[in-house]
Amino acid sequence: MPLATCPRCKKMFEKIRSIVCPKCQDEENTDYDRIRGVLDAQPNLNAEQVSVEADVDVQCVMRMIDEGLISNVEMKDAVKCGRCGAPAISRSKKLCQACLEKLNAKVIKTQAQIKLQDKKDVQVGERVHARKMFEEKRR
Ligand SMILES: [Zn+2]
Ligand SMILES: [Zn+2]
Repeated sequence: MPLATCPRCKKMFEKIRSIVCPKCQDEENTDYDRIRGVLDAQPNLNAEQVSVEADVDVQCVMRMIDEGLISNVEMKDAVKCGRCGAPAISRSKKLCQACLEKLNAKVIKTQAQIKLQDKKDVQVGERVHARKMFEEKRR
């Protein structure tokens, strides 16, 4: 049986199935449950954010990613931004923060332009109307 160093207590143990020693298994399970809970609620967090949210060592999060215990951490199967290929912040939108901001800015700008255009149309309309009235009076 291969000997391994327990990543939690740094002691050597006979590695059977788990990557931590039998003594640390309970703690590891508790951490796993916490990480799992955080990920269920917020699946788009990266490993660092998960470790903060779950109050678990980031090394532990990384370990679980390596072991394939958790798979929906951003680092494992990153959703890429459909526009620039950077890591996406939203699984559904497939956009990175920068592109999302750009897109939002564009939407706001477009909306503003539409509003401006409406205003112009109204003004032009009024002017045409006034002119018609003027011409009608002249007749
Ligand atoms: Zn241990
Ligand atoms: Zn992007």
